[in-house]
Amino acid sequence: MKAFYAEEQKRHDPRAFLSSGAPQPNPEKPERIERLLAGARSAGLTVERPRNHGLGPIAAVHTPEYLDFLEHIFTRWQRIEGASAEVIPNIHPTARNGSYPASAVGQAGYHMADTACPISAETWNSALWSAWSAVEAAEAVMAGAPSAYALCRPPGHHAFADVAGGFCFINNSAVAAQVLRRQAARVAILDVDLHHGNGTQGIFYARPDVLTVSLHADPVRFYPFFWGHANERGEGPGLGYNLNLPLPRKSGDAAFLEALATAFQRIRAFAPDALVVALGLDAFEGDPFGGLSVTTPGFSRIGEAIAGLGLPTVIVQEGGYLCDALGDNLTAFLTSFGGKQR
Ligand SMILES: [Zn+2]
Repeated sequence: MKAFYAEEQKRHDPRAFLSSGAPQPNPEKPERIERLLAGARSAGLTVERPRNHGLGPIAAVHTPEYLDFLEHIFTRWQRIEGASAEVIPNIHPTARNGSYPASAVGQAGYHMADTACPISAETWNSALWSAWSAVEAAEAVMAGAPSAYALCRPPGHHAFADVAGGFCFINNSAVAAQVLRRQAARVAILDVDLHHGNGTQGIFYARPDVLTVSLHADPVRFYPFFWGHANERGEGPGLGYNLNLPLPRKSGDAAFLEALATAFQRIRAFAPDALVVALGLDAFEGDPFGGLSVTTPGFSRIGEAIAGLGLPTVIVQEGGYLCDALGDNLTAFLTSFGGKQR
């Protein structure tokens, strides 16, 4: 299996982060890349640099207004006297159908869901290359590879069509799915990150051609709070094409695998031509977010089970934060996935 990753993805180095109101170091650190690269290499993957794919595949799932904001907001922010070194919002609209502000502060509040996605001079470029890694992996699968791994960082699944959030700017899993749609009539996205894939759900919520399924810690008391509940099933033509499987906090391997079996039942009934796995590794018992209790052998079983679907698969890196086993968990997933793949 090939892995795709570009050096530019390391340059985004967010500082600001609030945890229950308290300033903390931002956990989405460039060092994650070193650990994940080592994990991918240990699983026998060869790492290649993606090509520059331009804005086209990204603009297919994000609004032009939002992409223009992401590209230019840092420069605009620096012109504000006394502004912070990173773009951080301090006011948000209560609804999305009000007026669109001209000011940088107003637009930051409109396009950023929270304070966990500060924008610096390098953010746009790193996010572009992260998305291009996803595009390259999707194109590799369309060219006949049974699977490919995109080492996407910054991650993407909390990014909506026009909103950043939770360390995410461009929704890499959604970009990959939309690229696959050039050949595949139906694409399923299976999100196994600790957190609900709210941005991915939002992008495809009204569409019947992309099934979105997410396993995650129950958002009733966990980020992203407002999305990820079992009653969110899609809308309009997309009604019945979104499945959320919230799990009680600290659930371990058995509960996760049981929910995965439910996810597979829905995915098989959808009969997709291709699959995107939004691979967060933060459901790990030792992850700093501590939401679920999946073990390292658990990630092997998850990888093996997903491979059993027998679908052309693009694996897109989402969350998973610095802890001793981060690389090992990726190795465990990729080794068992590759070993079991038909
Ligand atoms: Zn996560």
